[in-house]
Amino acid sequence: TNRYIATPIRTKEILNKYKFTFKKSLGQNFLIDVNILKNIIKHAGINKETGAIEIGPGIGALTEQLAVHADNVVAYEIDQRLLPILDDTLQGYSNVRVIHEDILKANVHEMIKEQFEPEQPVHIVANLPYYITTPILMKLLREKLPVSSLTVMIQKEVADRMAAKPNSKSYGSLTIAIQYYTHAEVVMNVPKSVFMPQPNVDSSILKLTTREKPPVHVDNEDYFFPIVQACFAQRRKTLRNNLTSHFKDVYDKGEITTILNEIGIDGTRRGESLTMEEFAILANSFYKRSL
Ligand code: SAM
Repeated sequence: TNRYIATPIRTKEILNKYKFTFKKSLGQNFLIDVNILKNIIKHAGINKETGAIEIGPGIGALTEQLAVHADNVVAYEIDQRLLPILDDTLQGYSNVRVIHEDILKANVHEMIKEQFEPEQPVHIVANLPYYITTPILMKLLREKLPVSSLTVMIQKEVADRMAAKPNSKSYGSLTIAIQYYTHAEVVMNVPKSVFMPQPNVDSSILKLTTREKPPVHVDNEDYFFPIVQACFAQRRKTLRNNLTSHFKDVYDKGEITTILNEIGIDGTRRGESLTMEEFAILANSFYKRSL
């Protein structure tokens, strides 16, 4: 039907009715294309058995499609001005609950316990505010929420980094952080024309499928992630040199080279050539020495 929220005409009607003005600082770029939304829903694996959590419903374009296709929906919106609008635009859907809260401060674990059935599959689905994409995803992943997947519209460049493979220019510490918790896949690139207002950057739909457990064994995550970051600190530098800077008060270059030789990783390689498994071997070996 052409009465869905996600059309240029209906969106303009709603914006005019409420004299709503976009806040760039909140990353407000609303979707005005129902086909894109249906693609997001399909890739997310949403159906009438599943629950959905949305971050940033805006005027309800995606929320409405989630209400139609999912069992029930909980949406977090930070902008107070959108609450009366959502009450209006979503009034026909009894399976939606909007929470007025900053997602970065929300207790999502508690909410899931209260709002969804214990065995119900729950998916996170969102057209994320681009200024805080990474903090939002990292918060949700670190908390190890009982969700099956996160399917999100984000800046294309960031999606490429999250889903990157070794030896590519997008591969970096963000890749490792995301893929440690999930299987990451860019499912679709999206033109700027499906947003109002149009953003300055290209977008992609990224699907993150949560893992039962990480793909590698890491002795200490608080030790692992800083080492990975250090290996990418200066992308053109060798592993040996980046690690020497990182451990400058602990080991000299000769010792670093010896340790790398012992674990069979060539110190003249660059960080971008290491697999997650190699990063785990490397970090675990330095960690054991630090005990
Ligand atoms: N889902 C709508 C759509 O697709 O048309 C709007 C998406 S818009 C890119 C991002 C939304 O996230 C806005 O409604 C914005 O107000 C909201 N938002 C921004 N920061 C937020 C935060 N920290 N917590 C919750 N919502 C936030």
